[in-house]
Amino acid sequence: MRAVYPGSFDPVTNGHVDIIERAARVFDEVIVAVAPNRGKEPLFCIQERMEMLSEVCAHLKNVSVDSFEGLLVSYAERRQAGVIVRGLRAVSDFPYEFEMALMNRRLNPSIETVFLMTGAENAYLSSSVVKEVTALGGSIDGLAPDLVVERLRLKLQEEVRESEP
Ligand code: ADP
Repeated sequence: MRAVYPGSFDPVTNGHVDIIERAARVFDEVIVAVAPNRGKEPLFCIQERMEMLSEVCAHLKNVSVDSFEGLLVSYAERRQAGVIVRGLRAVSDFPYEFEMALMNRRLNPSIETVFLMTGAENAYLSSSVVKEVTALGGSIDGLAPDLVVERLRLKLQEEVRESEP
């Protein structure tokens, strides 16, 4: 069975990596699919997010990285994936994920959404927290892959330089 794990991944955190590694053990093939985050201005462009994911997933032979626009179920159909994987952290993730899963099932009942529970150590981890802590000068070592920690630091320095007169 081929699965799609969609998300913004802006940037990928250790919480995402944990879900990807576990999904790779459950499904024959996993496509990590980067979506443009609607409404939110991304820090990293799609290309940069895909590059980081590809490096981080290089050791997983049945995982590939792609991007998509438009309806997730249409993308899953095109890629012949029968499962959508999502991660669940706190109860607060539930209403949004529930709504999405029900809508996706209405759009295409043959595609099943499967939820994987977060690891306890990643329960409070999100891309937003990782960006905010880095921007404020805090350490995110251990919360995101090393290459992401470094790229994030460089990106935020770049942003500070650009905002200087
Ligand atoms: P989106 O904007 O689509 O929610 P994200 O990149 O924030 O994209 O998340 C993609 C998926 O990964 C979502 O299902 C989200 O709940 C899950 N996820 C994010 N962080 C974690 C984490 N720390 N542990 C488990 N799942 C997570």
